[in-house]
Amino acid sequence: MTNFKELQQTDREIYDIIKNETRRQQEELELIPSENHTSQAVLEALGSILTDKYSEGYPKKRYYAGLRFYDEIETLAQKRAKELFKVPFVNVQPYSGSPANQAVYFATCKPKDVTMGLSLPHGGHLSHGWKVNFSARFYNPIQYGVNKKTNLIDYDKMEELAQKVKPKLICVGATAYPRFLDWERFYKIAKSVNAYLCADIAHIAGLIAADVHPSPVPFVHIVTTTTHKTLRGPRGAMIMVTKKGIEKDSDLPEKINRAVFPGLQGGPHQHQIAAIAVCLKEASTNEFKEYGKQVVKNCKVLASEFIKLGYDLITNGTDNHLILIDLTNKNISGKEAQDLLEKVGINVNKNAIPFDQNPPSNPSGIRLGTPAITTQGMREKEIKQIVKFIDNVLKNRNNNAIIESTKQEVKKMCLNFPLPGIK
Ligand SMILES: *Cc1c(COP(=O)(O)O)cnc(C)c1O
Repeated sequence: MTNFKELQQTDREIYDIIKNETRRQQEELELIPSENHTSQAVLEALGSILTDKYSEGYPKKRYYAGLRFYDEIETLAQKRAKELFKVPFVNVQPYSGSPANQAVYFATCKPKDVTMGLSLPHGGHLSHGWKVNFSARFYNPIQYGVNKKTNLIDYDKMEELAQKVKPKLICVGATAYPRFLDWERFYKIAKSVNAYLCADIAHIAGLIAADVHPSPVPFVHIVTTTTHKTLRGPRGAMIMVTKKGIEKDSDLPEKINRAVFPGLQGGPHQHQIAAIAVCLKEASTNEFKEYGKQVVKNCKVLASEFIKLGYDLITNGTDNHLILIDLTNKNISGKEAQDLLEKVGINVNKNAIPFDQNPPSNPSGIRLGTPAITTQGMREKEIKQIVKFIDNVLKNRNNNAIIESTKQEVKKMCLNFPLPGIK
């Protein structure tokens, strides 16, 4: 934090809080799989004067004057996204992942149309039709899930369901699913009922960019993604339309654009869009490919170390950046584990497991991932150490001496791996 001099003068309270949070991030382990540490370059773009202007509309079709450089920025962000994900169309304006999904619903469905999405307790996202979300209030969502034995998506059952309910839109995307998704199979199902198929790759976008996770682009019509998870950019989102999407509906790009603006949003956040452009440039490098590979490698070590210690992993392992642990056999709930680990500076999150007997406020599982610690430079050796820390704390949950000493060890380890955004 060297460049916050003005802030320190103007608002000491916020300055101090940011400083405390910076120290916390540096001294604690971030294992929440939807999080990451972004680069200094991304932070600089995000903190720029680009926050000043309104730029409603799209490049060369704006409602305000003085936007020639904003046009250059948005066009560059679009170009980089199209090249990285190999798509013919992208909208980079959605404020975040949920508004991006909202725009897809708005563009493809009318109120009360039937849609399908992966159920939240089975690893899906709120915005794919969960009952409290807009996607359930304004549309008619049917939820599919995983198989009770394998915890893998039950494609056969989903196909039957799709044949029965004939959805207008099928969303595929997950927040707590540790395995690859079979895009081709989803496409066959969507095609058989003539539905739009949208892949929400929020969690795995960085892995797809790094070629360590199969890309949905050849098989779906629409792709939404956040930019702040494995992609390691600023908070934000994008909506892409694929070649298949344009073949199905040549108006789809225009429908998406109109849904974002003027349908749902006003002025785009161009400082965010500039930071997305920077993150896309970073994500197209060989270093980023190495990063993606290491995220998965680290996660496989995380999984096998927990399995060795008798932990029960949903699907017995992982193909991606996260694992989901069922803590039932360890006699501790997800919430208790989360709170206990937070005390020692290890941040994980409580998470429902499929067919959970406990309520979402106190579910049976925890979800852990490797994107943030891999960015910091941690490798197999540290992962093994982290698993030991976690196991030791969970086993000795009432031993304050162990809790205190583990906290110190975690801090010591973290300080050896400086965060990229703290210069
Ligand atoms: C994180 C996530 C979102 C939502 O993103 P926000 O930026 O939090 O609104 C949507 N879908 C999936 C699959 C996600 O993982």
